[in-house]
Amino acid sequence: MRVLMIAPPGAGKGTQGGRIAAHFGVPHLATGDLLRRHVALGTPLGRRVQRHLDRGSLVPDLLMQDLVRGSLADATAAGVGYVLDGYPRTATQAWAAYQIAASIGATAHVALHLRTDDDEVVRRLLARAGTEHRSDDTEPVIRRRLALYHRVTEPILDWYHRRGILLSVDGMPGADHVTSTVVAALEAMRARRHVEPPGPVPALAA
Ligand code: ADP
Repeated sequence: MRVLMIAPPGAGKGTQGGRIAAHFGVPHLATGDLLRRHVALGTPLGRRVQRHLDRGSLVPDLLMQDLVRGSLADATAAGVGYVLDGYPRTATQAWAAYQIAASIGATAHVALHLRTDDDEVVRRLLARAGTEHRSDDTEPVIRRRLALYHRVTEPILDWYHRRGILLSVDGMPGADHVTSTVVAALEAMRARRHVEPPGPVPALAA
């Protein structure tokens, strides 16, 4: 099973992504976690991306492309699938995700979208701030991440809808309920074959 997860901050990408990956026995590749690991290790990439993470702005597309190309190649070399969580987030990334995956014969079967309410995700992230201490879980930065999501990420959902691979699920119920709904829907879609894209993703503001 090959899944892209597209959802706002605080929608439960990390929790659901981990559970879905475990259910299907595939790696969970979370771009935010990969980037935070580079920052913690002080790698050259980590030094280049830290200010973007701290401010809640997007890491440049070309840096993301290299990171994702490497992770997907490793994941697919090791097995048949992946849950890619946090990528793509822009129209450019959507097209890059398709090209990278196509070049290794591993295009996504499903783009999973979790629908949430902005006030609820702000509440969840502020609650998480008390335990996880992420540099971007302050209210102004959370608001910036959400605004960016609505402006540049949400519009790419339509492309997956037109390709017939969008699965949009209500992310508001409790985590266990969301997991059961998603896993049941993914199991039902499991046998589906890869669908060709209708054409280049429309140019959108990045
Ligand atoms: P959230 O979705 O809650 O913002 P993530 O852990 O997925 O949390 O991402 C944290 C940060 O990592 C983002 O605010 C951004 O700076 C960076 N990031 C993650 N994925 C991408 C991506 N696909 N493109 C650009 N930046 C990204």
